Amino acid sequence: MQKGCAFLMFWASFMFSVAANADKTEDVAHLCQKITQKLHSVNLEECQSFDFDTHKISSVLNMPLLMKEFKGVMDHDVPKVLFIAGIHGDEYSSVSATFKWLKILEENHADKFHWLFLPLANPDGLLRKNAQRMNANNVDLNRNFPPEGGESASLDYWKVKTAKDPRRFPGLLPVSEPETKAIMDIIDDFKPEVIVSVHAPYDLLDFDGEAYAPEKFGPLDLKLLGTYPGSLGNYAWVRLNIPVITLELPHAGIMPKNSEIRDIWEDLVFWLKNEHPKIKSAQLKSSPTS
Ligand SMILES: [Zn+2]
Repeated sequence: MQKGCAFLMFWASFMFSVAANADKTEDVAHLCQKITQKLHSVNLEECQSFDFDTHKISSVLNMPLLMKEFKGVMDHDVPKVLFIAGIHGDEYSSVSATFKWLKILEENHADKFHWLFLPLANPDGLLRKNAQRMNANNVDLNRNFPPEGGESASLDYWKVKTAKDPRRFPGLLPVSEPETKAIMDIIDDFKPEVIVSVHAPYDLLDFDGEAYAPEKFGPLDLKLLGTYPGSLGNYAWVRLNIPVITLELPHAGIMPKNSEIRDIWEDLVFWLKNEHPKIKSAQLKSSPTS
């Protein structure tokens, strides 16, 4: 009797996991289809071939957040890099270029890094009829992270410094949006040593971190934009001590040339290899000892 019962429980849990996997595959296939309808530079077969995972938290309109991990051989010694694109839904090139970088990695991953890619952090913003910077609740996700200076700091800044620019609305409260929660959850679980965040169209490289800032990645030169309360850069660096490199591509609707995409990638990898020991030792020094 007990054996039969255990078998039934095993069978039920097996069938549940098969059904959950089938749902996940269907969700990813559906999202890939929508992405490729919007971004002609992303190929449907290529999107499906990445075999994306999805985060347990979905977007406001219940779209999955795609994730792709490339593990390093020695997890403790290789740089752990979280790569986030498309947090602003109208910056098409950030998502398109990130699919090219995923392809480069798929073909050349040498296990010297541990990567986690989130290629489309704001699917609702990109996939609506007229793409928009904000998510489906009209919140700028890149202002919705916990700010320094208390809960109302981002909203106060928005009212006073941006004259209530609707494109930069931080939400009524920090972390009000599921996409923000998901990114924080991913940071918490993955514990990246560096975050790369891809935007457009300011044509530069921005850096939240210390003296080891990169000077140039491909055609992008370092030019510090300053920090905004509630931004990912501000949250990750100021509150978590994780440096954030922001790649601002030159045009939101036009991809960089293939040679520039490759140059940006090679410079990023070179910088990570050289600077990772310094970043790691700075993080170890600043972390509590007991
Ligand atoms: Zn942006």
